[in-house]
Amino acid sequence: MTTSEGTQSNPHPGGATTSIWQSTCEVPRFPKLTKSGSTDVCVIGAGIAGLSVAYHLARDGKKVVVLDDGPIGGGETGRTTAHLTNAMDDRFYWLEDVHGAEGARLTASSHGAAINRIQQIMQLEGIDCDFERLDGYLMSHRPGDSEELEREAQAAERSGLTDVSLVDRAPIAGFESGTALRFPGQAQFHALKYLKGVAEAIRRMGGRIFCESHADSIEGGVPALVHAGHYVVTADAIVVATNVPINNLFAIHTKQAPYMTYVIGARVPRGSVPQVLSWDTGDPYHYIRTQPLAVGKSFELAAVSGKKKYRLLVLCLREETIEVPAGKFPCLVVEPVLKEEGLFKAKGKLWIWLTRDGRHLPVKMQSKIPVGSIKAELVRGGNP
Ligand SMILES: Cc1cc2nc3c(=O)[nH]c(=O)nc-3n(C[C@H](O)[C@H](O)[C@H](O)COP(=O)(O)OP(=O)(O)OC[C@H]3O[C@@H](n4cnc5c(N)ncnc54)[C@H](O)[C@@H]3O)c2cc1C
Repeated sequence: MTTSEGTQSNPHPGGATTSIWQSTCEVPRFPKLTKSGSTDVCVIGAGIAGLSVAYHLARDGKKVVVLDDGPIGGGETGRTTAHLTNAMDDRFYWLEDVHGAEGARLTASSHGAAINRIQQIMQLEGIDCDFERLDGYLMSHRPGDSEELEREAQAAERSGLTDVSLVDRAPIAGFESGTALRFPGQAQFHALKYLKGVAEAIRRMGGRIFCESHADSIEGGVPALVHAGHYVVTADAIVVATNVPINNLFAIHTKQAPYMTYVIGARVPRGSVPQVLSWDTGDPYHYIRTQPLAVGKSFELAAVSGKKKYRLLVLCLREETIEVPAGKFPCLVVEPVLKEEGLFKAKGKLWIWLTRDGRHLPVKMQSKIPVGSIKAELVRGGNP
């Protein structure tokens, strides 16, 4: 996860930083609403909730209009860690206490069904979104204390998750988790690649998506009305999918408290962390996943020169084994591209050969400049 200046021209509203999803996927642009009109259903909010609803309505042959005041996925969905789980943050034993055994069973089955549905939509629409099934591990944040995990294992089983099991440790090398609760069949995906595919499918089916179009107010009734700037969308039904509701300022708002949750991105040697989801039982809790950065992918970095910050896009071009005076190295060839001019005028090209091991050592650099090219190779290496 990388950072960039949060300026007015930030294409990723909702925060001053750029999430890994935003830096590795360009979402399609949709027009602003520029005239009034009518539709069967107007969905407000183009995050995963709004676009999922719009997708299903469009598949059922409904006329659908989606309004969002930013780009698609510009809200929380663009900043999620995108764990798709039926392991609950609010433990199953707690759900049983509050909502009864049937409520806990419904929670388990609905979350499982949602993961299956995302997988089906991905397959049906041919969406390449890094979807992967994997195991999840819930670990105690108090090493050696497995009481909560044992209680949760029993409640999860009563809720219908009969394949959840207690294991001696999570399979994370070098980290002694102690007893862990294994949830098989979890998943992870690239949230914005998925939304991009869903939005394109909605458009293909005749749905209309308008971005940079703020819904100012809603009037229920038949027909229902959404006022957005100078324009009005008339609909048989309105779906408010704005994460925090904008139609009722009491029912949910008076029960909400503001919390901030952070994602920290770090590079780790390829293969050093197993492909699992993991969470601990703390409050606030910690959770981890990996996102492979492979050839063909790109990521954004903040480059600093003096007091100025620039956005640098790094393209992973290919894998290549090269020989330089210091030896033979399997490498990843990357090309940094300045997204705005600054450090140097972005007229030349630069390629860097980074070792494919976790150290990502630069062993060769080659640049093409207007008057020729410059090549630098690693001559000698050693342990510091
Ligand atoms: C750091 C972090 C990690 C998370 N990790 C996970 C996870 O691992 N797994 C998980 O399941 N969940 C996770 N979540 C939660 C998850 O991201 C959200 O629950 C989910 O993305 C919410 O989707 P949404 O469509 O309801 O809302 P959003 O994605 O926020 O979409 C709402 C949209 O409504 C638009 N909008 C709001 N008001 C208006 C208006 N008046 N007019 C027009 N448009 C409007 C916004 O622009 C926005 O695009 C995480 C969240 C965060 C922040």
